Amino acid sequence: MNTTMAYKYRMYPTKSQASRLENQFSMCRHLYNWNLEERINAYKEHGKTVSYNQQQNALPGLKKERPWFKSVHSQVLQDVLRRLDRAYDAFFRRVKQGTEAPGFPRIKHFGEWNSITYPQYKEIPAVDHIKVSKIGDIKIRYHRDIPNNTKIKTLTISKEAGKWFACFSFEGVISNEPKPGAFTRTLGIDMGLIDFWYDSNGYSVPAPKHLRKSEKALKKLQRKLFPAKAEQDWPRFRKLKKALNKRHYRIKCQRNDFLQKSVNELLDKADLVCFEDLKIKNMLRRPKPKQNKKTGGFLPNGASAKAGLNKSISDAGWGKFLSILKYKAHGLGKELAAVKPHYTSQKCSGCGEMVKKALSVRTHKCLHCGLVLNRDHNAAINILRLGLQSQGLA
Ligand SMILES: [Zn+2]
Repeated sequence: MNTTMAYKYRMYPTKSQASRLENQFSMCRHLYNWNLEERINAYKEHGKTVSYNQQQNALPGLKKERPWFKSVHSQVLQDVLRRLDRAYDAFFRRVKQGTEAPGFPRIKHFGEWNSITYPQYKEIPAVDHIKVSKIGDIKIRYHRDIPNNTKIKTLTISKEAGKWFACFSFEGVISNEPKPGAFTRTLGIDMGLIDFWYDSNGYSVPAPKHLRKSEKALKKLQRKLFPAKAEQDWPRFRKLKKALNKRHYRIKCQRNDFLQKSVNELLDKADLVCFEDLKIKNMLRRPKPKQNKKTGGFLPNGASAKAGLNKSISDAGWGKFLSILKYKAHGLGKELAAVKPHYTSQKCSGCGEMVKKALSVRTHKCLHCGLVLNRDHNAAINILRLGLQSQGLA
């Protein structure tokens, strides 16, 4: 089966290469903004929509008008227009679904454009450098090989918190195909807020609180940012902004590290992992405020409590966890089963009777069969059973 994967490497451009790359970021940002404005104006003034193809066809004209755009690879420029096109598609999709704020594509301000993509990159990196058209050979730390039987599809160069990265996406047959029915070790996991997960054997991994811990430091920096802006103290403003970026970057690394390690730990123990198909997006949605019909004022609806819950959810990063789990499991020839999250925490895993309990009740106590278990452990056993049923194994 063909899979697409991506590997990311640290890159060390020279000063002149870095400034040329930053120049390209800036040109791409302007190109994005101009084309966004074109789309908005065409709609406002003539009720017309502008397509990706129309905007792409205008690129040669732009290069004549502003010759410095010739220093950016044509395909990189096309990718910018494709990003805009995708932003529009995503906007219309959200409008149609109506489950979240549509978020119209925005103008990108200075500092908000940090990557360029070569959509048809083919070169395999050398031991210590990569060839980048219009820039030259850039030093890279090629710490792991891109698998042999794959084809490189794209190269994205990005700058995060002052560090440079090259990210290759590649495609090919990467996995060992799983043998159905050959699983001897099976696990169900219940993903929660207190424990990141609880498995059907009763083992649990506590939820990481990296974000919460670093939040204080972030807030402190943020409080200093506004006075600096008000006083137009730009050197200080830039310094604070840099420190903020660094902290955000560190949190991102810590979280990624945690997720990779926990996935490895999980796949070490099981050949079939069953989990709940969580509609994380829906859970992250903020509830609409309820209006009091008599006074016209707003009633408390638990929005702030839910916001706290959301914080923990995004903190725990389940969505990212599942995507890492999916590609690692695939690569190792292991199987996953996503089950519907219906009644998994209310049902008794011992006798199958319903035992209703509020979210705050942490222990499952069954009055029918006398089973007493941690709430999430009980759910994990139910998830495992549903997963096995879905595979025809139970
Ligand atoms: Zn029971």
